[in-house]
Amino acid sequence: MAEHDVIVVGGGHNGLTTAAYLAKAGLDVLVLEAKEYAGGGAVTQEVTVPGFHHDLHAIAHIFIQASPLVRDDELGLLSRHGLRYVYPDPCISVVFPDGDSICFYRDVRKTAESIARISPRDADNYLRFFEFADPVLDMLLGGFFAPPPPLGAMFAQLDQSELGQEVLRVLLMSHLEVAQEWFEHDKVKAAMARWVSEILAAPEEGGTGAFLMIMVPLIHRYGLGFAVGGSGALTAATARALASYGGAIRTSAPVERILFEGERAIGVRLASGEVLRARKAVAANLNIAQIPELVEHRFGADWQRKVDRLKPAGFVLLVGHLALAEAPIFRAGPEATSAGLQEVCLPLPELRQAFDGLKYGRPASMMPSIGVASVWDPSRAPEGKHTLYLLSFVPPELASGGWQEVFEESFTAFCALTTNMSWSKVLHHVVHSPDDSERFNAAWPKGDPGHFGSQIFQFLGYRPLPNMGYRLPAESLYLVGPSTHPGSGITGGGRAAAQCILSDLGLGSGE
Ligand SMILES: Cc1cc2nc3c(=O)[nH]c(=O)nc-3n(C[C@H](O)[C@H](O)[C@H](O)COP(=O)(O)OP(=O)(O)OC[C@H]3O[C@@H](n4cnc5c(N)ncnc54)[C@H](O)[C@@H]3O)c2cc1C
Repeated sequence: MAEHDVIVVGGGHNGLTTAAYLAKAGLDVLVLEAKEYAGGGAVTQEVTVPGFHHDLHAIAHIFIQASPLVRDDELGLLSRHGLRYVYPDPCISVVFPDGDSICFYRDVRKTAESIARISPRDADNYLRFFEFADPVLDMLLGGFFAPPPPLGAMFAQLDQSELGQEVLRVLLMSHLEVAQEWFEHDKVKAAMARWVSEILAAPEEGGTGAFLMIMVPLIHRYGLGFAVGGSGALTAATARALASYGGAIRTSAPVERILFEGERAIGVRLASGEVLRARKAVAANLNIAQIPELVEHRFGADWQRKVDRLKPAGFVLLVGHLALAEAPIFRAGPEATSAGLQEVCLPLPELRQAFDGLKYGRPASMMPSIGVASVWDPSRAPEGKHTLYLLSFVPPELASGGWQEVFEESFTAFCALTTNMSWSKVLHHVVHSPDDSERFNAAWPKGDPGHFGSQIFQFLGYRPLPNMGYRLPAESLYLVGPSTHPGSGITGGGRAAAQCILSDLGLGSGE
């Protein structure tokens, strides 16, 4: 029977990151990935026409830019294993159907100038908000890429000062409520809410205010990165780092059961029946909802009830991948056109209605997010041609109609905002619906790549369950990825899980 120190189940970017930190600390690590290739949500493929490299899921790498994984290059991804980033500037433009736009630049003052075109007073408000949020980012980021402190202790500490109490209030509010307190003009409020909703939280969802406070300083300090060659380049670099420390990945190896001796996890059984033993730990880069079946419900009905009641994200995603004959030109002008991402925003009342509609099965096709990464990274498409990533917020199930229809509505909304786009510029397209996401990745039931929502009651030290952190309720068994802190997205969050495992094994924290 094959034996390793640690078996990591699932080869998404988080599983690979955890594995690489553990291997760097001297452990013999094997990653088991169900699909025929690793990467999970960080893969790039030529799904339309040869030569057009599309990020199938994640395209914008934001949180990971602030992590020591990238910032301090702790695994040598940048210096030794070929990962490179380009940083579009403006990072994001929020575009309104009437041609107005707000551009979020790396530079906070240039961003304020962009806001001033709509509201000079809100330009000042933005600068004030940045001054409030920037020091808070240090406070929150300290615990963002490491195991989080208990939420109760964190709240008690915040409650000690006036600034802390203000932060606490924001953590408990919805991100639209925070925007409404700080800004005056409806378009500025809508733009802020639209941008933050990318974390799959509707503007009026309570307990999401932290994200406005985090994302504003985050984008100005670290920017938004496109991995050169596509998100798959992050996967490839992490896989190379893992190999350089002696670790390995086995693909086409779906895990069907986690095996125990007494209370201790001692290995896994693959769907093929093969058993692999883990001497020190098993770490699952999976959705916590997958765990009960994998452990044959050994954690009991009460634990399962707590897992079952985790509140889902407000909506999920449909993405269209298009090979374009030329780059889109936005009516909003060259600044908006040159941004890394364009996010279509509706006036505030319609924006609220669109998010409400998602609760009742109606897609928000009129406000897609658009990424033409090939403008910033020409390696993604043949010369002069481009890749278009057209993302729509959708309900997990449609009240009526089909996914192709939703995609076509989004494409029409996108074309209307440009001077040059129509079906005649599309060489080929492929649509990935939430059903496709569910089929693509067993960790994404109903197509939710974040597993469940990021409201404060299931975030920080309460993610996935109060004070569980990365430790499942059995010896030597860990959970890694969006079900755990710091949650959904390309975060490099596998670093914090590795710290927890290394500390339990008496091997320091791996920094
Ligand atoms: C359409 C879409 C767009 C997105 N855009 C962005 C974006 O722009 N920026 C961003 O930051 N994030 C984005 N995300 C979210 C991001 O992709 C995920 O949060 C991220 O992939 C989570 O990484 P992970 O490594 O923890 O897990 P995953 O990527 O989910 O990887 C888990 C891996 O485990 C494997 N697996 C599952 N079950 C088993 C099993 N039983 N045995 C073995 N292996 C198994 C899966 O095949 C998969 O490879 C997007 C997601 C989607 C769906």
